[in-house]
Amino acid sequence: MSNITVCARFRPLSSRERSNHGDSVCVHGIDTETFVFKDEKEEDFSFSFDRVFYEKSEQVEVYEFLVLPIVQDAVNAINGTIITYGQTGAGKTYSMEGPSVLECDELKQGLLQRAANGLFECIKSTEGSVKHTIKLSMVEIYMEKVRDLFDLSKDNIQIKESRVQGILLSGVTEIAISGPADALQRLSSGIANRAVGETQMNMASSRSHCIYIFTIQQELAKEKRVKSGKLVLVDLAGSEKVEKTGAEGRVLEEAKTINKSLSALGNVINALTCGSPGKTNHIPYRDSKLTRILQDALGGNSRTALLCCCSPSSSNASESLSTLRFGTRAKHI
Ligand code: ADP
Ligand code: MG
Repeated sequence: MSNITVCARFRPLSSRERSNHGDSVCVHGIDTETFVFKDEKEEDFSFSFDRVFYEKSEQVEVYEFLVLPIVQDAVNAINGTIITYGQTGAGKTYSMEGPSVLECDELKQGLLQRAANGLFECIKSTEGSVKHTIKLSMVEIYMEKVRDLFDLSKDNIQIKESRVQGILLSGVTEIAISGPADALQRLSSGIANRAVGETQMNMASSRSHCIYIFTIQQELAKEKRVKSGKLVLVDLAGSEKVEKTGAEGRVLEEAKTINKSLSALGNVINALTCGSPGKTNHIPYRDSKLTRILQDALGGNSRTALLCCCSPSSSNASESLSTLRFGTRAKHI
């Protein structure tokens, strides 16, 4: 990967956190890149990221800093990935979707809606010289199985690799998107299918990874060839440790699977960021479905952004610390 941008985002205190007397805010901002985090034992940890979004930050700030550059590249056939990481309730889905993907209050629109708008904006500016087509696929990874969110009968999609097209989700539904409004309708229908699966399989969306894949094809009339770029957005499963919930049985299995895929993601990012130029080191993409699907969106000629979502409350301090450390490792190793 050419580079990874790592940011932290703290959501506002929830009403529960606010009314809980023992709770306090454990984030003390220094500037837009650095803050001090106080854990339960009042110990101070200093963190620096490419950007920190504090409680009052707006969705548009996150979009413009983290996503817009990747959207612009994707239109020029450079793959990019945006990942939200953090414990359940930390603001991953809010960052991606806003309160809902069909949200009308523009201020609250999430990264998905903005990315869809951005893609069409970028295309408009090249109109005439290049013909673009945008397609959307949506899948969910639950217990290491890939489900097509546009066709629930496809509940075990296989991952293949082709020399020309890179990583492929065999038989996955790809919907051609006609414009931003169409994109929102499609996204919303895919997300609704996620909810259907939830009741059928009795699972919470926080136990699965949701992957939104925009493929942008350009037909260069003069050169008679097609180039394509992928813009992938990933709303990860909750990163919380399982002991907290006293899990057993299926819940424990879920937790182990999630843990495995999140550490695989960490390992792949580490291997990519620590590789010395010119040297090919082993990147363990095959250790999980998640990293395998993201292989060509993370490696090679691509851009990656990681948004580490955290609660600002002392009651979640240990989970937040673990999220912030994941982000730090991704950046520095
Ligand atoms: P996650 O997807 O990480 O489990 P959610 O995105 O569902 O967490 O967020 C949990 C709750 O916090 C939701 O009610 C959401 O609306 C709220 N929330 C999260 N981030 C923000 C934010 N930046 N501003 C306002 N509310 C937020
Ligand atoms: Mg969520």
